[in-house]
Amino acid sequence: MRTSNERTEKVVVIGGGIAGLSAGIYALDAGFEVEIYEKNRVPGGECIGWNRKGYHIDNCIHWLTGTKKGTELYDVWKRVGALSDDTEYAALDSFYTSTYNGVSVTLWNDLKKTEEELIKVSPEDEEEIKKFIQHVEYSKQCRIPAKKPMDMWGIRDYIKTGMTMKDFPKVMKEFGKISLEDYAKRFKSPLLQKMVTDYLPKSYSAYAFLVSYATMADGNGNIPMGASLQMSLRMEKKFKDKGGVIRYGCGVDKINVENKIATGVTLEDGSFVAADYVIPTVDTALLFGRMLSKDYLPKELKVAYEDEKAYPATSGFQVAFAVDENFNRNKGVSETVFIDIDPIKIGDRLFDRMYVKAYGYDPVCVKDGRQVIQTCITQTDEDYYYWKSLSREEYDVLKDRLSKEVEDRIKKAFPEVESTIEFLDAWTPLTYERYCNAYHGSYMSFITTPQGKQVKMKGQVKGIKNLYVAGQWTSAPGGLPVAVTSGKFAVQRILKSQHRDIDI
Ligand SMILES: Cc1cc2nc3c(=O)[nH]c(=O)nc-3n(C[C@H](O)[C@H](O)[C@H](O)COP(=O)(O)OP(=O)(O)OC[C@H]3O[C@@H](n4cnc5c(N)ncnc54)[C@H](O)[C@@H]3O)c2cc1C
Repeated sequence: MRTSNERTEKVVVIGGGIAGLSAGIYALDAGFEVEIYEKNRVPGGECIGWNRKGYHIDNCIHWLTGTKKGTELYDVWKRVGALSDDTEYAALDSFYTSTYNGVSVTLWNDLKKTEEELIKVSPEDEEEIKKFIQHVEYSKQCRIPAKKPMDMWGIRDYIKTGMTMKDFPKVMKEFGKISLEDYAKRFKSPLLQKMVTDYLPKSYSAYAFLVSYATMADGNGNIPMGASLQMSLRMEKKFKDKGGVIRYGCGVDKINVENKIATGVTLEDGSFVAADYVIPTVDTALLFGRMLSKDYLPKELKVAYEDEKAYPATSGFQVAFAVDENFNRNKGVSETVFIDIDPIKIGDRLFDRMYVKAYGYDPVCVKDGRQVIQTCITQTDEDYYYWKSLSREEYDVLKDRLSKEVEDRIKKAFPEVESTIEFLDAWTPLTYERYCNAYHGSYMSFITTPQGKQVKMKGQVKGIKNLYVAGQWTSAPGGLPVAVTSGKFAVQRILKSQHRDIDI
């Protein structure tokens, strides 16, 4: 218990993304003085968007797990100001559509409708389709625990979770140890095979696909209107309204450690900022290597960095265009449509599938009767190395060439945009590296594959006191829910170290 004349302890948070803002808000609520140091000029990190030619390019939320009222995660999103009971969500009724040889199937939020559509397209896969739908139904039970870190769970927490997720072990048994690529082979229809591998990287464990779809189908993965940057700005406002200070354009160079205690941070301009507690939320490849010595790298992460096949990172080559507002409307397809394309070559690899996502559902991405569409070609570690091997000039030339190739593929698949499509912007794994210091340009944490274990690090570093790690890299596969809960968990760890109530 502190007395009134004791000074308020100070927490320095590194990074103003979702994890950093969350840590900042919870630390303020716990009575600390808080400063966030962010290298960019805006908050949000990877939860971001930007403007080009008067259009808004939204570059994050495809689904936000935790939008369902009554879930623990919803309470966290609400607490940090990202959502409120009045938040409006995009009126979307599906996950995505896959097309192949002129036929398409859609993963509707209505599972019965999906089942009927898939069976109609491929009656010979009926048994496998029914099994798929049944296990997506079970996967709706998979909820992200957000009350406290699992290492602080007691027996009651395990029993409660076990009861609410009683069918989920069936999903893990059937789909936990099989890659999407292998799972796809269970279907006879080439279109359904494409559908299974379209959204997530093929090496992903299949259960991740089922859980993602279930989250949408359960109404627990909506998209808040106003786009990703606005959500980050709402959190920033909450943080500032509570008295937090965020310093933009202030990159942190290293964390100072004296006598095995974190004492503050040294900024890139050489100045020192003292702190009682430091919460880094940056990429762990940057944390252990630049901000701290690599000797501190926890062994769970070391294993992952040393085996890229079992623990891949994912990024994308993405391009945005403007097209007519009515593009793909009333065609009975999802906003996100995967198409077959004449192969596009990046390095030594050929890509023959690509998605086109229409953002017209949110007025923020519409201007003068035209809307933003985006495409993405999934990139992984080996693609990152290829981009990295290029000179600046080669990089620019390749980006331009690929953008034109992508535009040609869109025109071929959707001839109606031929004369009106307008290029807005293109970005690559190196954009994420430059903007967020993201490892291999990754926008999630390590992918969970059947060869690897789910990477999780306890938010503390052996040998350093008063340092509590947050951010999406603390628990694979990362994403917004991991980011926001990790910020809360870091503060709960501080409270526990002070023998205070962690129930904030
Ligand atoms: C295209 C795309 C689509 C996505 N879609 C989804 C989705 O649909 N659902 C979902 O859940 N997740 C999605 N994600 C992932 C999600 O955006 C991330 O998981 C999440 O934003 C990570 O938050 P974070 O705070 O852990 O990390 P970051 O956002 O990386 O934040 C770290 C912050 O630290 C800052 N920083 C870095 N180095 C320094 C330094 N030296 N000093 C000071 N500051 C520094 C960075 O600038 C950044 O602001 C998507 C991401 C992308 C890019």
